[in-house]
Order: sequence, then C-alpha cells, then structure tokens
Amino acid sequence: MSRRPLYLDYHATTPVDERVLSAMQPYFCESFGNPASSAHYYGWEAETAVEQARRTLAQALNATPEEIIFTSGATEANNLAIKGIVEAHLTKGRHLVTVCTEHSAVLEPCRYLERLGFEVSYLPVQPDGLLDLTSLAETLRKDTILVSVMAANNEIGVLQPLTEIGQLCRDRDIIFHTDAAQAFGKIELDVQASAIDLLSLTAHKLYGPKGIGILYCRQGIPLAPQLHGGGQEAGYRSGTLFTPQIVGLGKATELALTELPTEQQRLKNLRDRLWQALNSLDGLMLNGHPSQRLPHNLNFSVNGISPEALLKKIRPHLAISTGSACAGRRAQPSHVLTALGHSAPLARSALRLGLGRFTTSVDIGAASKILRQAIGELR
Ligand SMILES: *Cc1c(COP(=O)(O)O)cnc(C)c1O
Repeated sequence: MSRRPLYLDYHATTPVDERVLSAMQPYFCESFGNPASSAHYYGWEAETAVEQARRTLAQALNATPEEIIFTSGATEANNLAIKGIVEAHLTKGRHLVTVCTEHSAVLEPCRYLERLGFEVSYLPVQPDGLLDLTSLAETLRKDTILVSVMAANNEIGVLQPLTEIGQLCRDRDIIFHTDAAQAFGKIELDVQASAIDLLSLTAHKLYGPKGIGILYCRQGIPLAPQLHGGGQEAGYRSGTLFTPQIVGLGKATELALTELPTEQQRLKNLRDRLWQALNSLDGLMLNGHPSQRLPHNLNFSVNGISPEALLKKIRPHLAISTGSACAGRRAQPSHVLTALGHSAPLARSALRLGLGRFTTSVDIGAASKILRQAIGELR
C-alpha cells in the first residue's frame, strides 16, 4: 500500500493542526517550567501560558477561568463529574439519570456507582436518537442528584436539546452535566444559556493533542476530587500540569471558534453531497435525526450485504468505522444503533463517516466512488 487510505473517521480522533503544534513546541524544551513553581521565572512563564489557555476555554463556553479544571481528557472529566458530584451530594440522595446512547466514559462510571448502591435511570431514545423530554421530566425525582446527557453523539452525531434539559434540571434544582467531547468547537455551546453545570471536553477531537481536556464546573457546586496529591487546580485535580498539552488545547480552541461558522457550512455541504451521491443506491438507511445532527457526521446502514466484506473491500482506500465495536473477536452491534430500535444485523451493518478540517471536495468525490463501487460489487 503506497498511499495512506483517505481518513474519514474524525469522530474517533483528529490530526493535530500544524498551528497547534507550533504553539506547543516552545513548552517542551525551553519554557519547560512547572506552572506551580511560584519562586522563579520558569514557573511564571509556564503559569502565564496555562492561565491564558484557561481564559480561552472559559470564554469559549461563557464561563469564568476559575470554573475550568484541566484533566487528561473527556474520560477523566466525565469520571470526575459523575463520581465527584455524587460523592459531594450524598445527603441529597442516590439517584442519577443518563441516556442509554451515552459514551462508555459516562455509562461505565454510572455502572460502577450502581455496584456501590446508587440507582441509575438509563433513558431510552426515540427512533431518531433524540431524548424525549417528557420521559426525562417524569424520571426526575426529589432524590435525583445528577442528570448527564451528551451534547452530540459520537456515532450518529445527533444533538440533544441541551437548553431544554438544562431548564428542566434548573427548575428542580438538579445538577446537569454534559459530555461535549464531540460538540465543542463544532457547534455553539454556552453554559449560561443552556443552564449547564458541568461540561467535559477533549482536545484530540478538535485538532489538538491527545491526553488533555477539561471539566467545566459551575462555581459554588460542591465537587469531590478524585485524584489527591499536590492540590493543583484548586484541589479538584492534583498532578503537575502538562503545559504543552494545555497550550495546544488553548490554541485548538481559538482556531476552532474562529473558523466555526465557515467550517460548519463547508462540512455540511460536503456531507450532504456525499449522502446524495450514496443515497441513490438501494437499501441505504440514514441513522439518526436528518437535520438535528453534527454537520460533519454521516451514519447509515447498508441493507443486505455483509459488513465485514464491505469493510474488507474499502479498507485499503478509506478509513471509516462500522456500527460495531470489536469486543474480543466477536463483533457486538453498537449500543447506540440498537437503542434506535435496529435489529442486530442492521445495527452491525452501519457505517460512520466523520468529515473534518482537512477533508476536501476531491476527497468526497473519491469516498463516494469507493463506497458505491464496493457496495455495487457485493450486491
Ligand atoms: C472521544 C470521546 C470521549 C473520550 O475522550 P478521551 O479524551 O479520549 O478520554 C468521551 N465522550 C465522547 C462523546 C467522545 O466522543
């Protein structure tokens, strides 16, 4: 294989933007100080860079810098949010609410808490992947501590009604957390307008480096730290701050917000063109709400052909994901597609395409040709 396959899996991760890499570079060998070293120049230099990134993140969310906690990514942020909130609110109750299409980084902390005696309601979704607000309202109780609903789904890209959920929770004095790993920098987010109390995000879905993210936690909401040590991040998350990654996240945020309006439109046009080209084939079915979804997401099931055979054919040319996660050697259908009411074979035959910053119009033409040809040959 002389050429690398075309990458259309931007929901899994994204390449680091060269401009982000350049911003990070000085903080490895030259400006290497520990931001916590308050006695000398090297510490101040690193601290200044960290605090600038913190302000950028806060501004992007309409939050304040004190509300930003740096973590190793969205998995850690979700764990800190969910475990940290329940631990700090034990006197109120032991009930949590989430949705069955959440990322495993939300579902698994919830299952862990169930084993410790907490009660978790996993709400179903409608066939379009969206949460039903009436059933959410009916599930909320006096002893409900936390509601966790993702902003955008990582498989089907659907956008949950954050503002409506936030209002429902605010009216009942229930804390609202959202996993915005896929949404941040791709759609507008505002923690005030949507009454969001906690929000997780990660840099590597945003053309930034892997291993860095944040938890936004609204001022005044008690949160129990899950990592104890030197007391960094106001005691909420101990551990020496990774200055280069933090600077990278700040730069990635700045770029994403500047380019958001034009990029949204560009990717939506490319995505719609790709779907139009593919949808003229028989037996394709779009998964998830047709318009209330990320502009760069496409997810569809292909009826009547073996997903393994299809993937084998396209793999040398195209890097995309299927609707199954390989747990060992047996492919399990995705829990998200099963939650839409799909049968196991239909869920397994789903393809997820994620477009991104470096996807061109030529790429879309090529992807459409590769997929049409492969599906045609297998029919
Ligand atoms: C990628 C992703 C995560 C995990 O983020 P990491 O930074 O890789 O830990 C969590 N939630 C969603 C929705 C994601 O897409």
